Amino acid sequence: MRTPIVAGNWKMHKTAAEARELISSIAAGLSGEEKTEIVVCPPFTALAASAEAVEDTPIRLGAQNINPHDSGAYTGEIAPGMLKEHGVTHAIIAHSERRQYYGETNASALEKVKAALTSGLVPIYCVGETLEQREAGETAFVVERQVREGLAGIPADAFKILVIAYEPVWAIGTGRTATSEQAQEVHALIRATVSALAGVEAADAVRIQYGGSVKPANAAEIFAQPDVDGGLIGGAALEAKSFVAIVQAAG
Ligand code: PEP
Repeated sequence: MRTPIVAGNWKMHKTAAEARELISSIAAGLSGEEKTEIVVCPPFTALAASAEAVEDTPIRLGAQNINPHDSGAYTGEIAPGMLKEHGVTHAIIAHSERRQYYGETNASALEKVKAALTSGLVPIYCVGETLEQREAGETAFVVERQVREGLAGIPADAFKILVIAYEPVWAIGTGRTATSEQAQEVHALIRATVSALAGVEAADAVRIQYGGSVKPANAAEIFAQPDVDGGLIGGAALEAKSFVAIVQAAG
């Protein structure tokens, strides 16, 4: 049985003070009965304040990016160990905005996934096709390749830890959600690809989140699909009530 995971990607939103407030509101909205792993991913500058705010709550802390090196001359970058020092447990890797604006590739994602695993962070590896690719009938090809290249050589056991997020780029921040059938189809393909890469046990264990305009109104239907194990949430994660409702829709 896979534990669902719902993570909020706050992107470049929320100051440290605002992060503290949002986390307290989320914590106050939880019943304590949730069976879902709950993660919030604030900007780097809000991590220290967020680490204090998540104490004594079931909420875990994620980073939105990592540098794969331990230290060194990498101006503007943050190493996994520095994040762990602030209580970070998860890291989003190769979000489509990082692929689109910062030149991240499947190869650079693989380095980051490896570094996250080595340092004890849970990687949330993002994949997904653009609208152009979907309309050209290339979804399966593109997503399979992102999984094969971004997770090449990752040991089978690591699939019990790492998380894959399927985020169709055309659904991110657009209000246009994939139908539950469209999501399930790609999630099943991702699981089959993991099976081919690392075996059936790894495929059964790996958690695959859906991301792209998930809201309280559509979360339950998407999360009910057999290969969907929770969600990566952007806009709706910035409001405590909607994020809590989405967490609770996951289980
Ligand atoms: C995201 O950026 O990961 C995301 C899913 O955004 P939204 O929920 O706003 O579409």
